[in-house]
Amino acid sequence: MQEYDLFVIGGGSGGVRCARIAAQNGARVGIVERRHWGGTCVNIGCVPKKLMVYAAEYGRSVDDARKYGWDASVHGHDWASFIASKDKEISRLNGIYVSLLEKAGVDLFTGEARFIDSETIEIGPSPLEPNAKPQKIRAKNIVVATGSTPTKPSIPGAEYGIVSDDAFHLEERPQRVAIIGGGYIGVEFAGIFAGLGSSVDLIYRQEHPLRGFDDELRTHLSEQLPLYGIKAHPQKTPEKIEKTETGYALHLEGGAVIEADCVFFATGRHPRIENLGLEKAGVVVKDGRIPVRIINSATNVPGIYAIGDVTAMYNLTPTAIAEGHLLAERLFGQAGREWSFATTPKAVFFSQPLASVGLTEEEASKNHKIDIYTSSFRPMHQTLSGREGRAFMKLVVDSESQVVLGAHMAGPEAAEIIQGLAIAVTAGLTKRDLDRTIGLHPTSAEEFVTMRTPTRHVGG
Ligand code: NDP
Repeated sequence: MQEYDLFVIGGGSGGVRCARIAAQNGARVGIVERRHWGGTCVNIGCVPKKLMVYAAEYGRSVDDARKYGWDASVHGHDWASFIASKDKEISRLNGIYVSLLEKAGVDLFTGEARFIDSETIEIGPSPLEPNAKPQKIRAKNIVVATGSTPTKPSIPGAEYGIVSDDAFHLEERPQRVAIIGGGYIGVEFAGIFAGLGSSVDLIYRQEHPLRGFDDELRTHLSEQLPLYGIKAHPQKTPEKIEKTETGYALHLEGGAVIEADCVFFATGRHPRIENLGLEKAGVVVKDGRIPVRIINSATNVPGIYAIGDVTAMYNLTPTAIAEGHLLAERLFGQAGREWSFATTPKAVFFSQPLASVGLTEEEASKNHKIDIYTSSFRPMHQTLSGREGRAFMKLVVDSESQVVLGAHMAGPEAAEIIQGLAIAVTAGLTKRDLDRTIGLHPTSAEEFVTMRTPTRHVGG
């Protein structure tokens, strides 16, 4: 039986980083992956999604280009050729993940892993290695980094609906898409399909999409949706899906029916822990996730750790990577690096991206007296193109200390701009720092340093 100092279950972003850093610090490390190296983010998540967002933007850009004097026109989108290019890029990235691990001296296994006891793992056949011969591995430290998988509500006809895993491999682009769920995935894919020319219905339970984001940003998004050709159905819940002669009929509670060629469930994700044999190792599972101590990713069993989506703490790639990196350094290297998880920036790659760092107005006003600064404007690019839609920016500032508690934006390059601002918010910047910063003209970002007068004072 092979023995390791560290064995990682799951070759996604967090698991790969953990394995690499541990091996680079001299540990004997093994890692197992069941489906695709690089995990959800690289194969059926962030990366192909962003490529799809780019694809969706081009149609609009060509339209705009005409207003800027170009003799350009669009004659439709070739889905099959785009998917082939996307797949080529994803397999290139798969290869990079494998070679990074190999170069670091990590042993790679393909197969489905399960615990035999708290120090022993058995690896059996999996989609990547259907004929694998079962083998056993022992390790002093085991990291569960198995990620998450989409959740479908159990309504009649749910089997007719797809989830994000499927959306990356559809043979054809559906003409009529009904997307259920107003979270990250629902909003992003609404923008993608609408940009590529599909008619899109977006169905969500709340008054506005993106529960958890700043309310004013959410209201702004609701106003923008129709400008991108998306038909919003707020405060609606799906009841059942029926197959029809022409596609599917999605019935909503209250009686409305939406006809579609594709019903897409974007109704959250849950940790992938089934068949892992966690009970054999004595690992406690609560509400379908593995609870861990935030400071060291430790489960209730000494020597067993969990990072990334399987803990259901952040569900973001960069936080999984940070958790994996920290854990490997703590176990085998020099602990001491710090990451500011509290100021983790977030972005939704809608056609007009939205991004946030720090506290929302609603969160901040519970414990602080705050000054709110807002700005809504027509991005310069749209003046010639005549395209409708506005950008929105918002700062949440502690009235007393003038520390910037949160920054929120919807508009061109929002994710790029908020990433820059996230450094400043993490460093504890005050509104005075923004005020003494010279703007970079003409940009949208300069608005963050030119908002002089509070829109309102709240809380306290
Ligand atoms: P989210 O948790 O973001 O949103 C789920 C949506 O589905 C919500 O609108 C929710 O409504 C709704 N919903 C849940 N259950 C039901 C139900 N039974 N019937 C109707 N609606 C339902 O999940 P996503 O699937 O969009 O994304 C999963 C995770 O992946 C995200 O939390 C995020 O962490 C990550 N992700 C991050 C991205 C990024 O960083 N850009 C991109 C994509 C995913 P309600 O609000 O009422 O609960």
